[in-house]
Amino acid sequence: MEIKKIAIALDGPAGSGKSTIAKLVAQRLNYTYIDTGAMYRAITLKALQQGINLDQPEQLTQLAEATSLSLQYQRAADGMVLRVLMDGREVSEAIRSLEVTNHVSEVAAVAGVRSCLVKLQQQLAREGGVVMDGRDIGTKVLPNAELKIFLTASVAERGRRRWLELQAKGVRVELEDLIKQIERRDFIDSNRETDPLRQAADAILLDTTDLSITEVVQRVIDLAVAKGAVDNGD
Ligand code: C5P
Repeated sequence: MEIKKIAIALDGPAGSGKSTIAKLVAQRLNYTYIDTGAMYRAITLKALQQGINLDQPEQLTQLAEATSLSLQYQRAADGMVLRVLMDGREVSEAIRSLEVTNHVSEVAAVAGVRSCLVKLQQQLAREGGVVMDGRDIGTKVLPNAELKIFLTASVAERGRRRWLELQAKGVRVELEDLIKQIERRDFIDSNRETDPLRQAADAILLDTTDLSITEVVQRVIDLAVAKGAVDNGD
C-alpha cells in the first residue's frame, strides 16, 4: 500500500519557531524540509557580495534568475543539518549573518525575485511529503497544501528566542536591538505588495508563546496525522 504523503505549509513571522518546528516535524514524518527563507537569504548574500544596489528590482530579479540554489539535508548527532549551496558553493553560515538578516526583507519584497523563487519552491514540493516554512507558503506557494499552520508568538518571546540562539553561537547582541530588528522585518514582510506575510484563510493559528518545542511539534504531528500523514515516532 502506498503511504500517503501530504504537504505541510508553515508560515509565520520572524522568530516564531518555524524552522525548529519544521525540521523536527519533517524528521518525524520522514518528509523533506524546505527552508524558503534560506533561499531569499542566499539571493541577498549574492546581491551584497556583488555590490548590487538593493533599490534596483530589475538587477535583483536578473540575479535571482541567474543563480542556482540547492538545499541539502544531512543527519547529524543533534538532528538534521541544512546545507545551502549557491552556485555550487556552500553558504549555510554566511546567509545567517547580521548583514544578510538586515537586508533580506528588502530583497524579498521584489516581485521578480519572488516569482523566481516561488517557482523553484513549487518544483521542490511537486512530489508531496514536504514541510515548507516561510511567509507565503499557505497563501501563494502551496495554496492546496493539505495542512496549513500559522505559527506566532509575542514579539518579546520571539526576540528572547533569537537572543538565546545567538548567545549559544557566541554572538553578542542587545535584546532590545534584536526586538527592533524583528519588528522591522515583520513590518516590511507584512506590508509589501507582493505576497505579504498573512495567515491563509484555511490555516490553523498556533500561538507558541507559552508552549515548549515538544508541545508545538506534537500538535503539528497530530494535525498532520488527522490529514493522513504517517507518524514514524522518531
Ligand atoms: O525565515 P527567515 O527568517 O530565514 O526568512 C528571512 C526573510 O526572507 C524573511 O524576513 C522574509 O523577508 C523573507 N521570506 C519571504 N518569504 C518566504 C520566506 C522568507 O519573504 N517564503
